[in-house]
Amino acid sequence: MGNEITINLLIREELDPKLYDIISVLRDKFEIKGRTYVQIKEEDRTCPSDFCGGISPTLLIDFKSGKKRLRDLVMCENTLVIKRRGLKKINPNKQPTELTAILAHEFSHIFNKDQLIWGAAVALIFFGFICLGGLFWLITLSNLFPLVGIIILAATFFLIYIVVTGKRYYRLRRDTEARCDRDVVTITQNADALVRGLKIISGANTNVKNTIWIKVKRRWYNFFGGTHPPISERIQYIESLKMN
Ligand SMILES: [Zn+2]
Repeated sequence: MGNEITINLLIREELDPKLYDIISVLRDKFEIKGRTYVQIKEEDRTCPSDFCGGISPTLLIDFKSGKKRLRDLVMCENTLVIKRRGLKKINPNKQPTELTAILAHEFSHIFNKDQLIWGAAVALIFFGFICLGGLFWLITLSNLFPLVGIIILAATFFLIYIVVTGKRYYRLRRDTEARCDRDVVTITQNADALVRGLKIISGANTNVKNTIWIKVKRRWYNFFGGTHPPISERIQYIESLKMN
């Protein structure tokens, strides 16, 4: 059978049948090929949001055997990560349309292979950074300019490089989020459900501990405009899609 649904679960318990239904329907609508892994997770630091979707190298750990036995390492598989915290906020049985909208957004990330694109962008930026370093290394070796001058010039260039490429990278991230929201409206034909879903999940993201690292990260994101537009902006954008 060509179009049978193969969702491989990577969880400690059986998936809620309603959640399974939602995922299966979305997977069909987005025509996702290959295995789809669903991970229901407790809190963790690596993935700050309650719902994530992407193509990622995933370490599969077999929880059903009772102990955390390593099963295999899959590269670039479709992976949907759902935090238990997220399911408490937005329940598959109580708010099925809102959860469908939120998960459709994540399926758009999976369908469009966004993580690979972001990874390639970061690799490209890093490559440019190395090239710039090499260039100033050659200038230093040439002995044509005084070292202090070269250091000041190099620092200026690196700073401009980080700001320019950083702005472009974060712009790409925000454009991607807008595209996902647009996909949700096209696929589900229910912009209101997405707006309600976003309001529900954004309301309770406050229990993240304010460590120095998080403060530094927030400053960095804010300077570059962030990976996600503010919820109010996203809602405004989604509302504007209804007019078309
Ligand atoms: Zn997203």
